[in-house]
Amino acid sequence: MIKKTYVKDLAIFGGIPAFDEKLYVGRPNIGNRDRLLERINDMLDRRWLSNNGAFVQEFEQRVADYLGVKHCIAVCNGTIALELVIRALELKGEVIVPSFTFIATAHALQWQEITPVFCDIDPKTHTLNPWRIESLITPRTTGIIGVHVWGQPCDIDNLREIADKHHLKLMFDASHAFGCSHNGRMIGNFGSAEVFSFHATKFINSFEGGVIVTNDDELNQKIRLMKNFGFSGFDNVIYLGTNGKMPEVSAAMGLTSLESLEEFIKVNQHNYKCYQEGLAGIPGVSLFPMDVSEKRNCQYVVLEIDESQTMVNRDLLVKILHSENVIARRYFYPGCHRMEPYRSYFPHAGLLLPETEKLSQKVLILPTGTSVSETDISQICQIIQFVVKNQITNSKLSIN
Ligand SMILES: *Cc1c(COP(=O)(O)O)cnc(C)c1O
Repeated sequence: MIKKTYVKDLAIFGGIPAFDEKLYVGRPNIGNRDRLLERINDMLDRRWLSNNGAFVQEFEQRVADYLGVKHCIAVCNGTIALELVIRALELKGEVIVPSFTFIATAHALQWQEITPVFCDIDPKTHTLNPWRIESLITPRTTGIIGVHVWGQPCDIDNLREIADKHHLKLMFDASHAFGCSHNGRMIGNFGSAEVFSFHATKFINSFEGGVIVTNDDELNQKIRLMKNFGFSGFDNVIYLGTNGKMPEVSAAMGLTSLESLEEFIKVNQHNYKCYQEGLAGIPGVSLFPMDVSEKRNCQYVVLEIDESQTMVNRDLLVKILHSENVIARRYFYPGCHRMEPYRSYFPHAGLLLPETEKLSQKVLILPTGTSVSETDISQICQIIQFVVKNQITNSKLSIN
């Protein structure tokens, strides 16, 4: 470990970076390589590479069993999964979504010419504030998409109530929440349907991939048709569809990842505890809490930097960490409403999103997962502690 004793030891002032190799947020977790290669060999022997192959079917069954949900439909990625559910639920007009989410949540709507209406979040949970929804409902509103950001479930019960009261469809982008629970029940069982992403950067990955889960038989049937061009058997198209199929090689990776699920969660939880210890007592630096009474995957280590206490702002801290080869990230800066095309469509959206605006200036994500060691974490924590203690500000940076 490289100890930073003087301010000039920081890499941003010309010191040696704390890490030789860059540490990334969302570095893929790789399960049992031999099992994966074995599966890929089987797949090649079978000469069945896509179109509802054996691995896709097995993957769907395993995921459904794990979540205790009736139907699981594997698809090529989480974004297509969102688009399929939105279309199958016949959402149109306007749909209420948080701006504090990955851009795909909003794009999946706009792609189908549905207007995402951005709703503010609860600064404690970082998820949709149900009490801000009603004032956004218009005669054009057809649904609500909640996002379980960082694996923290939305205020599902109140969202349900508001959706029912106004006859709106409710679905969830659960991309962050695989393996998480709400009141002891696995995420995947709420709303009309929930969507998970198994993109390479998620803690369980299938290279690219995603699933739609639902307890609704009719919706399941419809989405299965839609993801395969509307084909019902050979030569028989009975519905409008697209190509959303998950390839076998992705299912092979998905199955292999699932076999390491408990191990990955354990590693993430351990890393979380190491960060918790290492960051304890640093003024203005708080770690997003983990509810120990529920299941959590801890795939994101989320800090909030309160500049009034740290005296170092979040963006500078990110810059300092990058120079030490810690590639910390500012998720979901600057918020969907400040990205195109939404920024042009709704230039004043921020006025209704004060908590989103504040939070997107404060959040910083640190690396975790199986590629990050305990020593790495204590080194990262020491850097943050050192920077805050020495109040490295932008003006100090320009003097040196
Ligand atoms: C990753 C992610 C998606 C998109 O999933 P892809 O599989 O990359 O298409 C959507 N929403 C959220 C919140 C995500 O984190």
